[in-house]
Amino acid sequence: MLDINKIREDFPILKRKVNGQPLVYLDNAATSQTPKQVIDVIVDYYENYNANIHRGVHALSQEATDKYEQARIKIQKHFNAAKTHEMIFTSGTTHSINLVANGFSSLIEKGDEILVSAMEHHSNIVPWQMLCERTGAVLKVIPMNQEGELLMDVYNELLSEKTKLVFCNHVSNALGTINPIKKIIDKAHSVGAAVLIDGAQAAPHIVADVQALDVDFYTCSAHKVCGPTGVGMLYGKEEWLKKLPPYQGGGEMIAEVTFEKTTYADLPHKFEAGTPNICGGIAFGAAIDYMNSIGFDQIAKYEHELLLYATQELLKIEGLKIYGTAKNKTSVISFNIDGIHPYDIGTILDKLGIAVRTGHHCAQPIMDFYKIPGTVRASFSFYNTKGEIDTLVSGVERARKMLV
Ligand SMILES: *Cc1c(COP(=O)(O)O)cnc(C)c1O
Repeated sequence: MLDINKIREDFPILKRKVNGQPLVYLDNAATSQTPKQVIDVIVDYYENYNANIHRGVHALSQEATDKYEQARIKIQKHFNAAKTHEMIFTSGTTHSINLVANGFSSLIEKGDEILVSAMEHHSNIVPWQMLCERTGAVLKVIPMNQEGELLMDVYNELLSEKTKLVFCNHVSNALGTINPIKKIIDKAHSVGAAVLIDGAQAAPHIVADVQALDVDFYTCSAHKVCGPTGVGMLYGKEEWLKKLPPYQGGGEMIAEVTFEKTTYADLPHKFEAGTPNICGGIAFGAAIDYMNSIGFDQIAKYEHELLLYATQELLKIEGLKIYGTAKNKTSVISFNIDGIHPYDIGTILDKLGIAVRTGHHCAQPIMDFYKIPGTVRASFSFYNTKGEIDTLVSGVERARKMLV
């Protein structure tokens, strides 16, 4: 059993008030809060060993380099990657996906097909559209049903020897659906297609084992797993990372430079041009340590309890409809109330100190599918409580009475 009160002590921000009310933070799918164990690592970096990495022979630079590379190993172990140099530090999921999409420009031809799921975040749609524009490849969509589950039989039909790439999120940020990624990966491989799984929304809840999944690329952002913004990772199988050209040119990613010709550095540095987010990378490692110290099995179990409780209580409200009712889902609830704009509910909840997300959640195609402008999204983390869910439910009920 998790000691939630003790865990909450780790998060200084949870003590603050918003509009005179205790903060009820239920926007964890947008970004998670940061425990003091991670904040301390950030302060320690700037107070004690702030320096550029991989360059200087001086003590601070060595220390920063060691800590940065140790963080890479922590993240590698967490995702069970075979090789440390298969872990690329990026600025986040969006950067990771663009890196891969850009690299595939030289490996894709006119008429090749790329499949994406119907429930993607914009960051997993737009880079592929841009890739298709550059290459003449065709983007096809794996549809979903009303519950927010992918139609796997249609996926099977869409796959062919023309399919070169398949992109899917592990967990939908708008609906919470946990997608059957192992099946998606195996099917794609049977026609020789590569697979990128966007793990941004899965990483706070589920530990992905990239070797067991046999996935080609897997990516996430630190700020959704109790780490800082502006840093994330891209896992890529060595064979793919060797095939892809560098994304950005600059310092750190070269072996030798002359005006006639430049040779690139080995992995992972080939993809890490310029001075990276050094402190962020180190703090990312600390965040992974922190999450593991709580335990992902415990986290998943507790969050599932919160999900069931919140679903049951919210459904008692008149006219409330939940979008995304997949059998397998994480602790995200997207909902609307008949006749009320989601933004108006969000505004009233904010007055009550309750932070939720309203809008299309960077997934407009999902909103089009349900023919709605957006939803209110409450997303729960392991530091949330049933008491906070009660506050949410009474807040939504109050909003309904005011707005109907
Ligand atoms: C948050 C999120 C992203 C984008 O992550 P950034 O950190 O903004 O780059 C992409 N996909 C999913 C599913 C997300 O939840």
